[in-house]
Amino acid sequence: MSLLSDISPAGREFLAAATYIGIEVLAPAADEVDAEARFPHEAVAAMRAEGLLGAFVPAELGGGGCTVTDLSLICTELGKHCGSSAMIFAMHQIQVACIVDAGRGLPYFDELLTEIATRGRLIASATTELGIGGNVRASLCAVEYDGEKISLRKQASVISYGAYVDDVLVTARRDLDAAASDQVIVHVQRPNLTLDDQIDVWDTLGMRGTCSVGFELYATGTTDQILPLPYADVSAQTMLPVTHITWASLWLGIAEHAVTKARKLVRAAARKQPGTLPPSARHLATVVGQLERVRALVEMGVRDYERVRRDLSVGSTMAFTIQMNNLKLCVSADVFAIVKGSLEICGLAGFRNGTEYSLGRQLRDSQSASLMVHNDRILDHNASLLCILKD
Ligand SMILES: Cc1cc2nc3c(=O)[nH]c(=O)nc-3n(C[C@H](O)[C@H](O)[C@H](O)COP(=O)(O)OP(=O)(O)OC[C@H]3O[C@@H](n4cnc5c(N)ncnc54)[C@H](O)[C@@H]3O)c2cc1C
Repeated sequence: MSLLSDISPAGREFLAAATYIGIEVLAPAADEVDAEARFPHEAVAAMRAEGLLGAFVPAELGGGGCTVTDLSLICTELGKHCGSSAMIFAMHQIQVACIVDAGRGLPYFDELLTEIATRGRLIASATTELGIGGNVRASLCAVEYDGEKISLRKQASVISYGAYVDDVLVTARRDLDAAASDQVIVHVQRPNLTLDDQIDVWDTLGMRGTCSVGFELYATGTTDQILPLPYADVSAQTMLPVTHITWASLWLGIAEHAVTKARKLVRAAARKQPGTLPPSARHLATVVGQLERVRALVEMGVRDYERVRRDLSVGSTMAFTIQMNNLKLCVSADVFAIVKGSLEICGLAGFRNGTEYSLGRQLRDSQSASLMVHNDRILDHNASLLCILKD
């Protein structure tokens, strides 16, 4: 049964809003956002206006009270129209989910969640670090303390939409003496945050609108800005599963869009020669089969995680982490294969920019899927868990 049957009443309204702004705002701007590698201002403004940025904030704090199922469906819908805008939405929701699960009930984080809901504050993430690469489970930078005051400096080599936010969740070592893997998550915000010294540019193959520039990040604050749970726990229970689910969901949207174009082309060819099977129809059957498999994987992942969310400690089990990692590994590979297969069906019309069958942007965007936390690292993670996991 489709995930739509599990959507919450609030989620249904947000999904309708996402469909509307997807068609009216994201799609018309997507090619320009891609060509100019510019931030999709209009998309984020529309999401803010529709309350989508606060969708996952609990209703008691003024938010939409959405479920992960709702987020997944919204990501897929946005992904059909603009991969970069959908990725910005997904990355923001991952940060919100971490704050909800690990910070809720604490005055500092309740106030922050209320502000996300009421003012539509957009939150970025600074995990990747110069000298560490994509190893999210280690940090070089550390929180420094002066009584209740803290400070933090990080060579953050990739912060998506960092130039357009006031808030960033940063991973760092707990203190100067902590091991690289003894990490915490700190919420930092302007004006006590500077991201002025750009250390990289963002002129990439795909996901160009995410504007994922590198910065030297410097922030000051107070100890109540540190999420109380260790990063390892927040990662296992929330960040890793919500990341893999929202990303896989938006990649599904990109793949759905590509297959829709391929179907349209094959049907047009079939209409021209009634009674004759167009040569590309068999390839269409293949990509539709692949798409259904991806949809089934996403739906299964979402349903399993919804069950786990009733007792988040289950989310820390190795078996569940392996399952979520496999969702990312499979979908990231399949989405690229589906878009590539659709391009082959659309042929030159898909290869050319500016036609109704163009698939260049979707193909390039889908190539980022295996690199966003590199699949090799995720495979290594699963490999080491499998060595210690009992049957
Ligand atoms: C569109 C986009 C948006 C992003 N946004 C953000 C963001 O907002 N915030 C953020 O913090 N990060 C972000 N990232 C970074 C992302 O999450 C990854 O950390 C980053 O893409 C990894 O870069 P890498 O491939 O150079 O590094 P690595 O993961 O270090 O991979 C480099 C090479 O090392 C190899 N390798 C594999 N396993 C290992 C291992 N165990 N040890 C050493 N090397 C290994 C890989 O095979 C690969 O060839 C973003 C990335 C993209 C593409």
